[in-house]
Amino acid sequence: MNSSPDRGRQTVRSYKAKAVEPISLLAKPDRESALETAGYNVFNLQSKDVYMDLLTDSGTGTMSDRQWAALQQGDESYAGSRSFQRLQKSVQDVMGFEHVVPTHQGRGAENVLYGVLVSEGETVLNNTHFDTTRAHIAAQGADPVDCPLTTSASTRFNGDMDLDRARNTVDKIGHELVPVIVLTITNNSMAGQPVSIQNTRDVAAFAAEINATFVIDACRFAENAAFVKRHEDEFTDATVAEIAREQLSYADAITMSGKKDALANIGGFAAMNDRTLFERAKQRATLYEGFPTYGGLAGRDLHAMAVGLREAVTSEYVFDRIDQVAELGGLLRNAGLPVYEPFGGHAVYANANELYHHIPRSEFPGQRLVCELYREGGVRTVELGQFAFPGTDRPDFVRFALPRRTYFREHLEHVAQTARRVISAADSTVGLTVTETPGMPELRHFSARLEPVSNAVESTAD
Ligand SMILES: *Cc1c(COP(=O)(O)O)cnc(C)c1O
Repeated sequence: MNSSPDRGRQTVRSYKAKAVEPISLLAKPDRESALETAGYNVFNLQSKDVYMDLLTDSGTGTMSDRQWAALQQGDESYAGSRSFQRLQKSVQDVMGFEHVVPTHQGRGAENVLYGVLVSEGETVLNNTHFDTTRAHIAAQGADPVDCPLTTSASTRFNGDMDLDRARNTVDKIGHELVPVIVLTITNNSMAGQPVSIQNTRDVAAFAAEINATFVIDACRFAENAAFVKRHEDEFTDATVAEIAREQLSYADAITMSGKKDALANIGGFAAMNDRTLFERAKQRATLYEGFPTYGGLAGRDLHAMAVGLREAVTSEYVFDRIDQVAELGGLLRNAGLPVYEPFGGHAVYANANELYHHIPRSEFPGQRLVCELYREGGVRTVELGQFAFPGTDRPDFVRFALPRRTYFREHLEHVAQTARRVISAADSTVGLTVTETPGMPELRHFSARLEPVSNAVESTAD
C-alpha cells in the first residue's frame, strides 16, 4: 500500500481513543474576561479556560497504550538503568547512532553538545536556528548564522539550507572559525518545511570539506522522512524508517527533543558515533543534566521515548500526522484565512498582515489574531511575528500547532468555524498596545501584558 502512487496517504485514522480528557468551551463573556485577566497574552491563560490548545505540539501529544505500559516498566536506578538501555537500543535501531546522552529535553541536548563543540568567537551555520538553538550558540559566545533558501520559487523542500549562502559566509570568515554546521529537520522556524536528502548530502559534504562537525537537529526527523517519501523521487519505494536512517546517517551527531518525534511528554537526548565526542558530552551532561544513564529524567520517561521513537517511523503514525496538519490547513484556507503553503509537518501558519491590512505592524496584528481566535472559539494559538521577535522583518505569523494523536475532525472543523467568525469581523478589529514588559526583551511574548489600542472603538465594533 505504501509504495502506491499516493505514497503512504492514509485513508483511515490509525488509532482510536482509549482514555479521554474532558474539555469545555467557556461562554463567550467568560472567555472575554479570561482574555482581559490574561492581559491579551494567551500564555497567561489557565489551560482550563482553553477549549482547543494549539499553542504548541511540544510534549502535548497523546501517548499510545504501549507507551503507557512502558511507563510501568521504568527502572528508576540512578546508574545503569534498564530504561536507559531500552532507549539506547531504540536510538541505535531507529536513528543509527551508537552512543546516547539523555537530557531533560531538547535544549539540554543543545547545551551538552554545543557546550563541547563551540567556543567564543566562532560561527555556527544552520538552515534556520530554532530559538533555543540560537540561544545556546549565543550562550557559548558564538554567532548563529541562518542560511535558509532565498529563492522565491517555492519547492517541496523549502526547509533546505542555501549552500551558496553557507559557502559565502565561510569564505568571508574563514573555515577555522566554523566548527559546526547544523540542519534542522523539519525546519521549525521556516513553517515546519522539510529538508531533502539531497540537501542533507550536500551539506554533509560541505561540512566534511571545511572540517566542521555536521549536526542534525532531529526533533521532527520522522515527519521529515514522510515528506521525503512523498516528494523525493529517489525514495518513493523506501519505508519511512529506512529514509529516516538514511538521512540521519550523514550526520556526525544529533540533538533531539523527546517532546516532538519521540512522542513523549518530556525528555531529549544527544547522540553520536564518535567515542571521544561521547565522553566529552557525557561529562558536560553530568554537570548540567544528571548522571548519563538518566539525564535529568525518570526511568519511565526514558522508556516512553524508547517506545515512541519506534512508533514515530511507522507509516501508519506519521502519514496520519502530516495529513492531519494538511487537513487543518485546507479547512482554514477554505474558511478564507491566508495560510502559508505548502503546509509543514506540525503546524499551519496564518499571515495576520494579509488579514488585518489596516492594523500597523507596531500594533501587533498577529497577537490580535491570536486573541480573536481565543475570544471567538476558545482556540489557543501563538504569535510568531513582531510581538515574539521584536524587530524581525518576517510577516506576523500565527501558528496553529497540532498536538500529536489528540484532536479529531470535529475539533479541526471547530477551528475553521472560529476562523470564519474572526475573518468576518476583521475590518472592525483594532490593534494592541503593550502595557507591561518584562526585563528581557527576547522573552517578551511569554509574559508581557497588552490592551486594545482603543477600547472605545472596539466596543462599538462589537
Ligand atoms: C522544540 C525544539 C527544540 C528544543 O527542544 P525542547 O524539548 O523544547 O527543549 C530544538 N529544536 C527544534 C527544531 C525544536 O522544535
